[in-house]
Amino acid sequence: MSISRKTFDEVMFQCYKPLDMMIQRAHGAFVYDSSGNRYLDLTAGIAVNSLGHTPKGVQKVIRKQADELIHCSNIFTNKKTLELGKKLVSMTDFDRVFFVNSGAEANECALKLARRVAFNEANDEKNEIISFLNSFHGRTLFSVCVGGQDKYSDGFGPKPAAITHLPYNDVETFTRTISEKTCAVILEPVQGEGGIIPVDPKFLKTVRELCSKYKAMLIFDEVQTGVGRTGALYEYQNLGVIPDAITTAKGLGAGLPIGAVLAKEEFARHFGPGTHGSTFGGNPLACAVGCYVIEKIGDPVFLNKVREKGQYLKEGLESIGRKYGVFEEVRGKGLLLGCVLTDRYQGRSGSLQQYGFKHKLLTLVAGSNVLRIAPPLNIKKSLLDKGLKMLEKAVTDFTADQSVK
Ligand SMILES: *Cc1c(COP(=O)(O)O)cnc(C)c1O
Repeated sequence: MSISRKTFDEVMFQCYKPLDMMIQRAHGAFVYDSSGNRYLDLTAGIAVNSLGHTPKGVQKVIRKQADELIHCSNIFTNKKTLELGKKLVSMTDFDRVFFVNSGAEANECALKLARRVAFNEANDEKNEIISFLNSFHGRTLFSVCVGGQDKYSDGFGPKPAAITHLPYNDVETFTRTISEKTCAVILEPVQGEGGIIPVDPKFLKTVRELCSKYKAMLIFDEVQTGVGRTGALYEYQNLGVIPDAITTAKGLGAGLPIGAVLAKEEFARHFGPGTHGSTFGGNPLACAVGCYVIEKIGDPVFLNKVREKGQYLKEGLESIGRKYGVFEEVRGKGLLLGCVLTDRYQGRSGSLQQYGFKHKLLTLVAGSNVLRIAPPLNIKKSLLDKGLKMLEKAVTDFTADQSVK
C-alpha cells in the first residue's frame, strides 16, 4: 500500500497539521523520517517519551508482559495494576488510585469525583468548579469546558454548567469568588499549553487554605508536570502544598497510553462500585511499563539530574535570547521550559519552530508567543549542547527573515 504524508490529508480527520515528513523510527533523543533524515527531538512526544524513544528497558518490560498478560478488564484484577497503584501511593501523599488512559480522562474522573463528593456530603447547590484562564485540561466535553481557553470549547454547546474561569495567580479574584458552593478547584502547577507559566507560591497557599475552609476539592492537573518533568516526581512535591487529588498521564507510560487520578481517602471513598469505570484503565501492559518508569524516574539521583540539566538548558536558552534579542524570558521548571518571544516577535513561535525543523531540530510551541522545550528526561548533556547550537542557527535565520521584522 502506498502511504505518504499526503495520505494524512486524504483519510484522516484534519484536526492536526503534522509537519511535512513521516516518522519512520526513533531512538533516544533522535527521530528518523522516511527519507532518512535525522532530527534531534526536544518534544519527547509532548512530554510523553520521558525515557526517550524506544528505550531498551521498556522494550524488555513490554516483551515480558506481552508474554504473560496484555489485558483482562476491571472485572478481574492483576499483579501489575496493583503494583503500580501501590508504588504511586507510596511515593506520593495520596491513598488511592484510579487508572485511565489519558490526561483528559484523568481530569474527567477527578472532576466527576469532586461533584460526587459534594453531592454526598453537602447539597445540590455545591457544584461549582473554579479553574483558570489559559489552562488546559484535555478534550472531553467536560475537561475542555473546564479548561480556560474558549477557542477549544466554543461550538460544542450546550456546555456543562457551573464552571468559572479566573485569572491565574490572582489572589484577589480567587478570594472573592470561592464560596460554600465551590466543589472543586483545578489548576496546573505550571500551565503547560497556556504558555509555561509557573504557579505563584503565595497564590497557591491562599488556594490551599480557602479550599480547606470551603471544603472544595483541590485538584492539581499534573498531566504535563508529573512523572519527573519538573525535577520532582510530582510538582506539588517541589511546591510543598498538598492538594486533595492529582491527575497524571503523559510521561507515566513512557509512550504507552496510561493515566491516573491519585486522591486522599476522604475523597476517593465516595467512588464506590458502579460510580465510575474504564474498560482499558489499569491495563496490565501499560501498568507494567508504568512500574518501570516510576522506579527509574522516582530515583532521587535521576530527579536531581533532571533539575541540573533543566538549569543548564535554561541558561543556554537565556544566553541565545540575550545574544539575538529574541526571548523576553525563559520560564518553567526542570525540563519543561518556555522561551517567551520579545515584543517584536509576538505571534511568531510557529515560525521559529519551523526554522528549527529546517535545521533538524524538533521543538514545541505553547501558544503563539512561546517556544516550548520538553526533551526526554534522560537526555545527555552533550545533546542539550547540540540542541542549543541547532536552535541558535534557527534563531539566526528567524531574526534574518525579512517577513519576521
Ligand atoms: C496534555 C494535557 C492534558 C490532556 O491529556 P490527553 O492525554 O491529551 O487527554 C490535560 N492536562 C494537561 C495539563 C496537559 O498538558
